[in-house]
Amino acid sequence: MKILVLNAGSSSQKTCLYDITDATLPDHPPKPIWQGMIDWTHQAGVAEIAVETAQKTVEQEIPFDDRSSVLKSLLAMSWTGETQVINSPGEIDIVGHRVVHGGRKYHNSTRITPEVKETIAQLSELAPVHNPANLQGIEVVEAILGEVPQVAVFDTAFHAQMPDAAAIYPGTYEWVERGLRRYGFHGTSHQYCAEQAAELLGRDLSELKIITCHLGNGASLAAIRNGLSIDTTMGFTPLDGLMMGSRSGAVDPSILIHLIRHDGYDADKLDHLLNKASGLLGISGVSNDLRQVQTASDQGNPRAQLALEIYIHRLRSGIGSMLASLGGWDALVFTAGVGENAAQIRAAACEAFEFLGLELDLEKNVNRPRNQIISTPDSRVHVLVIHTQEDWAIVRDCWKLLKNE
Ligand code: AMP
Repeated sequence: MKILVLNAGSSSQKTCLYDITDATLPDHPPKPIWQGMIDWTHQAGVAEIAVETAQKTVEQEIPFDDRSSVLKSLLAMSWTGETQVINSPGEIDIVGHRVVHGGRKYHNSTRITPEVKETIAQLSELAPVHNPANLQGIEVVEAILGEVPQVAVFDTAFHAQMPDAAAIYPGTYEWVERGLRRYGFHGTSHQYCAEQAAELLGRDLSELKIITCHLGNGASLAAIRNGLSIDTTMGFTPLDGLMMGSRSGAVDPSILIHLIRHDGYDADKLDHLLNKASGLLGISGVSNDLRQVQTASDQGNPRAQLALEIYIHRLRSGIGSMLASLGGWDALVFTAGVGENAAQIRAAACEAFEFLGLELDLEKNVNRPRNQIISTPDSRVHVLVIHTQEDWAIVRDCWKLLKNE
């Protein structure tokens, strides 16, 4: 079965094609037979394309004024030219899209129909950068592949049944009626990592209390009980919660009122400040990339040191808050760029919970663990590093949907 996955972000479009030849889905993700990437923002008006197959890597720059035509050209590189891996687009059996916002309506991955498209369009108000890009991808596939089944895998779906007490902000009741509530994001990653953790522990997910830490450029935590997300740190948008690369995470809203009253800030300026100029970048003045902040900190840069201290403080408080929602604790899971690679951040986060009997194996922690338990055998809480595979999680959902039809 050939499964195409589209993952559209604000600045890039990633896409990959998997060929599943076995009768059952393999336990371990195979490498895609074809991967394509478009960077929209590196050079103004120019799309930078990179395509990789087992045999060939091709990079191109295409001037553009319409993103759809660039995406069409990119996809065509899987059935034509030097990076051809299939004979025609008709060989693609199903297409899965990562869709950022599914609101409260979608609890699971969903076959795309005109009604689902309509809902994704309506929810653009809540995800103005991502949902239109996701919709564009769906329409490009429709134009090229016609009736091929398409599936929306929502970032919000895993959190959609979160209890109201965790999801509703204590503003006015009108907020509740208007859907101004916590939706949570990174759901595909939190769910996938919790499942993988249960498998590595040889336990049933339905009997575990897990905190998953998705620490990438964007960062969020989830409290997972019996396989369900019952709390998470991201909220109405992916700005809430932890300190991130260039996002502030949660701040006292009065600071925004203060900036509006005293410094002439408007919505766009606040949006830029909180999403693009805050977090590790804003405090350190060095970078949104944790590696560079760590290097600067090691060289004695006091702002970089402060940025790391805040990052760790916020991470520990977030874990504490998820823990309170869980009311017990079997496993702590780290994933994504920082979670999978930054041993120092993992160690600092874990140190705060030693009093609960959590014991990190310091040697395993620094030995580039991947899909591995890194706590000691005596630790009362298991600590794991799981390589997140959002694309593979989308493939699995497409497979299940097609097999169950
Ligand atoms: P992601 O959004 O999951 O791709 O994560 C991206 C972030 O992971 C980067 O901005 C870096 O801050 C961080 N990262 C990646 N590799 C490392 C590493 N070896 N050590 C520390 N941080 C890393």
